[in-house]
Amino acid sequence: MKLYDTHLHTTYSPDGKSPVADHARAASKAGLSGIVVTDHCDVQGWTDGTPYDFRRDDSYADIVRARAEHPDLYIGFGVELSDWRIDPALAKEVISDPRVDFVIGSMHTLRGIDFYCMNYTSLVQCDDLLAQYAAELVGHCSGDGDFDSLGHLTYPLRYMLRDGFRPDFTKQRDAVAEVFRILIDRGRSLEINTSGLRQSMGCTLPDEYWLRLYRDLGGELITLGSDSHTAADTGSGIADAAELAKSLGFGYYCVYRARRPEHIKL
Ligand SMILES: [Zn+2]
Ligand SMILES: [Zn+2]
Repeated sequence: MKLYDTHLHTTYSPDGKSPVADHARAASKAGLSGIVVTDHCDVQGWTDGTPYDFRRDDSYADIVRARAEHPDLYIGFGVELSDWRIDPALAKEVISDPRVDFVIGSMHTLRGIDFYCMNYTSLVQCDDLLAQYAAELVGHCSGDGDFDSLGHLTYPLRYMLRDGFRPDFTKQRDAVAEVFRILIDRGRSLEINTSGLRQSMGCTLPDEYWLRLYRDLGGELITLGSDSHTAADTGSGIADAAELAKSLGFGYYCVYRARRPEHIKL
């Protein structure tokens, strides 16, 4: 089976540790068929630190160099676009770049605060935040937002677990089913993010329960990503995620080039 890791962060992400060249080398060594570099573009942080425009051009230049070094490896130029609704016009500008192969649409925040930055103090509070998260995701996947794959559904659970809480997200089944119907209607993918497999969650984001629901509702398009922030994690868990998807009845996963999905047989 051909394996592609389509979610990873380089030193052009504020939290990335390895340059593009190291990710490409690691992917080649691991026998992957390709990677897509998806550095963060947090719409609210466009002008914070290094302006995103510069990082984007530098990143693309590194990708072009890595392509020359690894002609057998597909190296896509993507972006993890966070919370497009904070500034829809700016979000539109980012993805109108004709060089972009793939856009992950992630929702990291609630009212401008990243779930990573919140303190979780009770199960009741977690349930309440998850209800808001699920409701907000409906809006995130609707409207003018343009992206190819919904990133790491169940993201808040990672940080709730960090603070010692394991709430039951299945209480939000109705809202999440609505999210899935919108993705399916719009021909978008659902990401299987494998970062949870190497963290205390011990499962993909989203896990089997949600992937089964997506499949039951008619979802066929998925993408696979490690969300690696260091070259050592590139490709991590992708084979497991592919096996999981296959076992749930998915026939293929998607790798995007120039915003168009190519089907990779499972
Ligand atoms: Zn993310
Ligand atoms: Zn990411």
